[in-house]
Amino acid sequence: MELWKLFGFSNYLQNKQIKDHLIADSNKPKCPHCGGPSELGYTRCKNCGQKIAWAGHVACKPGNLSKVQNKVRSREREDRIRQARSDARWKPYKKWFWRIYWPSVLILLWWFFKYVLVF
Ligand SMILES: [Zn+2]
Repeated sequence: MELWKLFGFSNYLQNKQIKDHLIADSNKPKCPHCGGPSELGYTRCKNCGQKIAWAGHVACKPGNLSKVQNKVRSREREDRIRQARSDARWKPYKKWFWRIYWPSVLILLWWFFKYVLVF
C-alpha cells in the first residue's frame, strides 16, 4: 500500500471523479419520459428506450415537439431582447471609458519616461 493512500488521497480522487461524473450528467438534457440524462441528438433514450425529439438543446416527447419549439424560440427571443437592452445601457459609458482611459495611459507613460526613467 502506497503512502499517499494512507492519507485518504485516493478516496478523495475517487469522490472527485464520481462528483464530476454526476455534475456532467446533471448538465445533460433530461429525457422527457424518465428524467434521466441523455446525449444531445440521440433519437432514443439510453435509459428507457423511448423516442426523443429535439428542439434545439431541449429534449421533448415527439408529440410535443412544435409546442416545445415555440417555447424555446420565444425564450431565445426574450434573451436577445434582454441582451440588446443591457448593451444599450452600457454604450454611452463605454464611449467615455475609452475617451478617458487612453489619454490617461499616455500621460502616465510620458510622466514615467520623464521623471522615473532618469538615466
Ligand atoms: Zn428516458
